[in-house]
Amino acid sequence: MGLRDYKQLAEQDQSVVWHPYTQMQEYARTEPIIISRGEGPYLYDIRRRRFLDAYGSMWCNVWGHNHPELVKAIQQQAGQLCHASLFSVSHVPAIDFANMLVDAIKQDFRFADEPPTLSHVFYSDNGSTAVEVAMKMALQYQNQKGKISRTQFLTFHEGYHGDTFGAMSASSIEVFRQKFAPSLFNCHHATYPMQVDPDEHESTRHHEMQLEALIAGRNDKIAAVVIEPVIQGASGMRPLAEDYLGKIKKYCREYDILLITDEVFTGFCRTGPLVASSTELVEPDIMCLGKGITGGTLPMAVTVASDRVFEAFKGEWAEMRQFLHGHTYSGNPIACAAAIRNLEMIFEEKLKENVKSRARELNYALRRAIGSSPRVGQIRQRGLAVGIPIKDASGNEDAGYESRDDAMKICEHAIERSRVLLRPLGNVITIVPPLNIESEQIGEIVNAISRGLEALEAGNK
Ligand code: PMP
Repeated sequence: MGLRDYKQLAEQDQSVVWHPYTQMQEYARTEPIIISRGEGPYLYDIRRRRFLDAYGSMWCNVWGHNHPELVKAIQQQAGQLCHASLFSVSHVPAIDFANMLVDAIKQDFRFADEPPTLSHVFYSDNGSTAVEVAMKMALQYQNQKGKISRTQFLTFHEGYHGDTFGAMSASSIEVFRQKFAPSLFNCHHATYPMQVDPDEHESTRHHEMQLEALIAGRNDKIAAVVIEPVIQGASGMRPLAEDYLGKIKKYCREYDILLITDEVFTGFCRTGPLVASSTELVEPDIMCLGKGITGGTLPMAVTVASDRVFEAFKGEWAEMRQFLHGHTYSGNPIACAAAIRNLEMIFEEKLKENVKSRARELNYALRRAIGSSPRVGQIRQRGLAVGIPIKDASGNEDAGYESRDDAMKICEHAIERSRVLLRPLGNVITIVPPLNIESEQIGEIVNAISRGLEALEAGNK
């Protein structure tokens, strides 16, 4: 691909392709990176440059790019059947994946006090939709149980659940919502108590009391609680205080409210276990999964419901208890085939162990390389999900989503000089690499950030 081709493509990209979460005026002044190929943790652009994908292609990559096993599964399935809609028929990949997934989730919860009941898989095609489905299921469940006043949701400050209207309503990152606020429905927001250092135990008693008061005051109104378990992603990697999910579940039980865990980001071993809710053995009534579900190859998501939720939708057709929701490409066979191979490989390749070891290495390397910099706040991490808050020159760490300049400078430096793809969320640099990443690439990422930080510090002197 010659330089002229690049220029033409870049112009066509900048003027015709409207990129997500991107200021297109700014993008028009950049030299876009146009990817043509992926292999392992690396992406190659049409100018033959190699980039380490340290943001896991928006947090979904599990095995690096174009893993031969996933490619084979996709090709084989495409040769058999590209699509048949689950509206009227079923197909083997959808049946097999649903069964494998339910078994794998049950295995994660096998030490829970009660036998796991998440057993029913509803397919859709992106994380936001998986959340919409969960919220609609919860509302319809309550309605069909005769609790018709339970029409509201309790969610958490700084939570993010997607960009569709229900998911946006449940989210609370103000800057994403503000232009749509008048069209969103109200949710009650509770505090998401953060615990950055896993060894530091601060009491969450007052948050718990506030949570109970919120629920108790509206216990006949709330249909479900929606939460990102273990760590909030989009608000800048905010880890949840240990044991808190269990406390939330306790109140849900007590007040007969459903618990929805949004594991779109945390699922598929991002924080270590297959699903993060199992860290505290807190089985929700409904669980949303997406992103890593196909190993990062194809769009797919699922909403997994417990027996009691599923049962509440049964009846004769004319009773109209069925779930009137579905998407054309729900449970696409090629995506299911990739998801099956992904799940098999998670066990064959002992992925959970790799995440644990690499997470430790990454944490240690980051602390050693940048931990003492006056511009770096407390590094937040659960598994291979990391947030590095960059303080402004006067030491302020809470500058908000709009103030991303310094974190952006570090990421741009990492991309341009070290060829490591990184993205900031506001003033927080996030590292969300492929989960089979090796030590060498951990080193590459840490060096890139460290050099970017040095450049920032030098430039600001
Ligand atoms: N929930 C969570 C917790 C997420 O992190 C995301 C995406 N970042 C979503 C939902 C939405 O997923 P999608 O982008 O696939 O719609």
